Amino acid sequence: MKPCCHSRLCLLGISFVLCVVSSAAGAIGEQEFDRQRAALVKVIEQDVRDTSLYLDKEALDPRVMQAMGKVRRHVFVPEYERRLAYRNHPLPIGHGQTISQPYIVAIMTDMLKPRPDHKVLEVGTGSGYQAAVLAELVKRVYTIEIIEPLGERARTTLLQTGHNNVEVRIGDGYYGWKEHAPFDAIVVTAAAGHIPPPLIQQLKPGGRMVIPVGSRFMTQQLVLVEKSYEGEVTTRQMLPVRFVPLTGGH
Ligand code: SAH
Repeated sequence: MKPCCHSRLCLLGISFVLCVVSSAAGAIGEQEFDRQRAALVKVIEQDVRDTSLYLDKEALDPRVMQAMGKVRRHVFVPEYERRLAYRNHPLPIGHGQTISQPYIVAIMTDMLKPRPDHKVLEVGTGSGYQAAVLAELVKRVYTIEIIEPLGERARTTLLQTGHNNVEVRIGDGYYGWKEHAPFDAIVVTAAAGHIPPPLIQQLKPGGRMVIPVGSRFMTQQLVLVEKSYEGEVTTRQMLPVRFVPLTGGH
């Protein structure tokens, strides 16, 4: 067969091949993301074993780990950070905010003891990732974000990922979401100086809340709040953490 290398068609063909090869090297495919996500689950399992003294357990609820293995974290981070999405780190999401470290998302979710019939409130939607993990595990998630563009973006992402049991509201989560209260569980993903009384009020008897408490420059503690069926509230410091501050007018 006559070599075609001088024809224009052939040059086009070569540049097409080069283009495909170079984009394959630059962008990570879904399969590679799946592989990285599975590896991240192993890293979280190890971190849980390493911190078992704090957590009082050697392993998290398998349902929680399944959700961590399922939710595509790379979709929730800005495009230029996708190749870092499955490192066990927080990442910037714009507006001075961060998507939490996957290990932290996993343990906070586990502490809530999520069940398929639960209604959960999240304060601090951020990227929407924590809401998506919860959405895999409970009936309905209500999440509040104070920075409008973040809340809007999270709403769009959650629609794209098909998590249609999540409702996002723009507002100050300090006051909770009265219309949908009481909640079986509440998770706050920004550090507060104190536990907001409206959130305690909006927690169901028998419910659990997880919240980082402390100021910006001091060690914060992840606190588990439990409300007994008689309405008695107890708190337990679980482990030191670092979160962005809970803002707003309170
Ligand atoms: N859960 C998020 C991480 C969010 S970081 C995720 O999975 O990506 C904390 C978020 O809390 C930030 O987006 C910040 O804007 C928001 N936030 C801070 N104070 C708030 C308040 N009073 N009400 C609602 N959201 C708040």
